[in-house]
Amino acid sequence: MVAEFAVTHMATVIDGNAVAAEIRGGLGEAIDALGDAGVTPGLATVLMSDDPASETYVSMKQHACEEVGINGIHVELAADAPAEELYETIAELNDDPEVNGILVQMPVPDHVDESTVLEAIDPAKDVDGFHPFNVGRLVAGEARFRPCTPHGVLKLLESVGVDTEGKDVVIVGRSQIVGKPLANLLLQKNADGNATVTVCHSRTTDLAAHTRRADIVIAAAGAPELITGDMLTDGVTVIDVGVNRVDADNEKGYELVGDVEFDSAEAKAEYITPVPGGVGPMTIAMLLYNTVLAAGEQHDVRVALP
Ligand code: NAD
Repeated sequence: MVAEFAVTHMATVIDGNAVAAEIRGGLGEAIDALGDAGVTPGLATVLMSDDPASETYVSMKQHACEEVGINGIHVELAADAPAEELYETIAELNDDPEVNGILVQMPVPDHVDESTVLEAIDPAKDVDGFHPFNVGRLVAGEARFRPCTPHGVLKLLESVGVDTEGKDVVIVGRSQIVGKPLANLLLQKNADGNATVTVCHSRTTDLAAHTRRADIVIAAAGAPELITGDMLTDGVTVIDVGVNRVDADNEKGYELVGDVEFDSAEAKAEYITPVPGGVGPMTIAMLLYNTVLAAGEQHDVRVALP
């Protein structure tokens, strides 16, 4: 009798913390080079919210600045302050030569118009890349600041040598901050792009039919474990942007899961990102990247970026 062996396929799990650390290392060298030219990059974060999650995100960004040698400037406004106070703060930061990048933590309170805020930021300091001018440049294939999460996704793919050229990429989610800019970056005629891109969303009729034929699936829907292994083809690359809190029987009472059901997807994938520890650390690393880029451009100092 011939013994039967179960062949278990193991995907390579992409370590976002390690890739982000490498990028931060490269940024350290660029920051030293800027320092030799008398420039210390400065990033201003503006928080107008009582939301503990927003407070945590901003303090993580400030902490990351400190670690790499970027000058962090933090401005906090009361959540019920008049909208004009926020616009005035942005105007002051626009005029401040010590500030190279400005990030207003979203969401802003309901009485503040998000578009007005984004348009108030000087496009040269718009390190999130959400000002309409920078969105236009990105769509035109002349991106200056690539939005941080999409840029981080591209860097993760590059880190494991997954080439996007000619690949079928299915993005799940069409938000302004992830899905749309990512789709635009991936279809550009350049080394980071050249993919055939499909963007699925909440009104897509047969999501699995799209994901099943994809070489690369990027999930950014904010729907816990929406993508399961049976929706994927063998050898797929899976990038999970989603971060969802679900109830759990632990001290905190919750745990973080992605938009992908990790175990069943890992059984199909060649490469997969975990949650947490995948895309999350990359977002902050690429914010630092954009700040260093902005500082170099504003002071006319050429620096090599990682
Ligand atoms: P969003 O809510 O603005 O957009 C979600 C998109 O997903 C929408 O376009 C919607 O049409 C689509 N969608 C929702 N449910 C769907 C379904 N069942 N089938 C198909 N499409 C569906 O979200 P966002 O701001 O882009 O964020 C998406 C997820 O990524 C969230 O979990 C968020 O927390 C996470 N996120 C993580 C990072 C990071 O750094 N790791 C950064 C940004 C966002």
